[in-house]
Amino acid sequence: MKFETRAIHDGQAPDPVTGAVTVPVFQTSTFQQDAPGRHRGYEYARTGNPTRSALETALASLEGGKHALAFSSGVAATNAVFSLLKQGDHIVAGDDLYGGTYRLLERVFSKWGITTTYADGGDPESFRRAMRSSTRLVWVETPTNPLLKIVDIKAIAKESRNRNVLVAVDNTFASPFFQNPLSLGADIVVHSTTKYIAGHSDLVGGAVVVNDDEVYRELKFLQNAAGAVPGPWDAWLTLRGLKTLAVRMKAHEENALFLANFLSRHPGVKRVHYPGLKSHPGHRLAARQMSGFGGMIGLELKGSLKETDRFLSRLKLFTLAESLGGVESLVSNPARMTHASIPRQQRLARGIADTLVRLSVGIENKADLKEDLVQALSGETAARGGLPKGSPVYL
Ligand SMILES: *Cc1c(COP(=O)(O)O)cnc(C)c1O
Repeated sequence: MKFETRAIHDGQAPDPVTGAVTVPVFQTSTFQQDAPGRHRGYEYARTGNPTRSALETALASLEGGKHALAFSSGVAATNAVFSLLKQGDHIVAGDDLYGGTYRLLERVFSKWGITTTYADGGDPESFRRAMRSSTRLVWVETPTNPLLKIVDIKAIAKESRNRNVLVAVDNTFASPFFQNPLSLGADIVVHSTTKYIAGHSDLVGGAVVVNDDEVYRELKFLQNAAGAVPGPWDAWLTLRGLKTLAVRMKAHEENALFLANFLSRHPGVKRVHYPGLKSHPGHRLAARQMSGFGGMIGLELKGSLKETDRFLSRLKLFTLAESLGGVESLVSNPARMTHASIPRQQRLARGIADTLVRLSVGIENKADLKEDLVQALSGETAARGGLPKGSPVYL
């Protein structure tokens, strides 16, 4: 069955007891046992809950995986994957990472003797060079946050094969609709379901999807042992959200492509990072490993931080907020928001300028979104002496 159908039906059959068409919210912490130790699949809600089970079945299906586990946040899902390792183990990670993942590696797992080397996401060979005999995990994010760089999952998975190294991909930015890392050779897929999967900016959640039974058993043990599980309401909201993932992703992409094209021709814009643009260095790779380019745009404006702030304050439809992937458009300034936990020198070394702006393009009408950007940019351009002569009029 195709993605759109699986999103609505897998794990979501009508309730066998009542016939409820929508999976019920099983708001209970515990389950009756028929005799001591004899239960009907559920005993305590940290270990398992039917609403969460439905979500996990649906998530596995969307990623084309055998097993999925839901967590209370994307970071909790990431934490579970890192917890597969033991003291002395080594991780090779891409160098353009979600700030919270970097923080977890450098300030939590490093304390326990788990070290990380950062490799150039654009160069699979640099992942191979960074590997040691103690390397157990390769961690990749693609498209990356916030520069939308594209990392070659297949090439990196190939380098890791035969080395007993697990390859994990944070697939949050692409969503399972546009990219399925397991089919490209990855062992583990991680999502912040907070973003596109739930899709309405109304909850925080995470997920891990795998094929291997043994890795699944270990992760399931960790899910229960550490206990970072979503409650039934959040599981239900996530299920409700993912039913429309396909239609939303198509709309996000259409709008983002339209705005990226417009922005790349605007005189007030220095640089647009969007993998759907032919000028993007990862465009061909993205076209190969993804089925669409997603809804995120990185934007560098001309001028200083002052002009960037003016632009941000003039936007009306794009709300200044962290996060992404919801139906509404958001804008952020990674250096002072999502990536503030990365030291400035390292941020700059990774190409994250203080003036970089990240757009999460929502599914509003694209002409309205363009108009909002036009008016915000025109104030910005006017402040610097107006549009250059002969440039198209955007007002
Ligand atoms: C948001 C995000 C995370 C963390 O997820 P939370 O749900 O906020 O804990 C991890 N990776 C990426 C790419 C993200 O955007």
